[in-house]
Amino acid sequence: MRKKLVAGNWKMHGSLAENAALLDAIKPALQGIEAAVCVPFPYLAQTQAALAGSSIAWGAQNLSEQAKGAFTGEVSAAMLIEFGCRYVIVGHSERRSLYGESDELVAKKYMAAQTAGLTPILCVGELLAEREAGVTEAVVARQLDAVIAAAGVASLARAVVAYEPVWAIGTGKTATPEQAQAVHAFIRSKIASLDAKVAEGLLIQYGGSVKASNAAELFVQPDIDGGLIGGASLVAGEFVAICQAAAK
Ligand code: PEP
Repeated sequence: MRKKLVAGNWKMHGSLAENAALLDAIKPALQGIEAAVCVPFPYLAQTQAALAGSSIAWGAQNLSEQAKGAFTGEVSAAMLIEFGCRYVIVGHSERRSLYGESDELVAKKYMAAQTAGLTPILCVGELLAEREAGVTEAVVARQLDAVIAAAGVASLARAVVAYEPVWAIGTGKTATPEQAQAVHAFIRSKIASLDAKVAEGLLIQYGGSVKASNAAELFVQPDIDGGLIGGASLVAGEFVAICQAAAK
């Protein structure tokens, strides 16, 4: 059986004082539960110090596709490793839509992460208009294919995929468990057509307005292996309850 993994995505939220309170609250409550938080770059050192020795991993929300050099404002995978990161989110819909990240750039970032030893959390998902046009599977397949073409299907043994329907992110509109399960099953079967073993072991998280109140019904679905949690990961009680739902 696959384990489940819940990762928080703090987005551009937090302050040193707020983070200290949040990390102090989740650390003891998640003792022994595997979870992760993906924090803004400036808070990596604080997160590393607070969570060292706990079962909660940490990571970043973006990275450069470049290894080093004259790329002002960018942050490399090697730098994230120095702060003890295990995970890095790549291809979040906000990066794709607000910062114009193409499938090809996302694939390069995915490879840069893996080359340095980070586990990428690869986000895929369709816009509302794409769902309504009936092209959800085609969009998700295109996003996955870009990564598979660049890095190979075997690379997914060292990655996590997060299915995040864009219309459900930060909107309060969650995909129904059936809607989410259908896309998760599609993702797994698509990978299985290339490598059954990789598909069977692949963690596929659901993201999009997951809360303590709807986590259990999502996580009970056979192909949903935990969640990528935005807003609710900033509220200690919510995040802890979601992680506990996944650990059951
Ligand atoms: C996210 O940021 O990836 C996300 C899923 O956000 P939210 O849980 O707030 O919808």
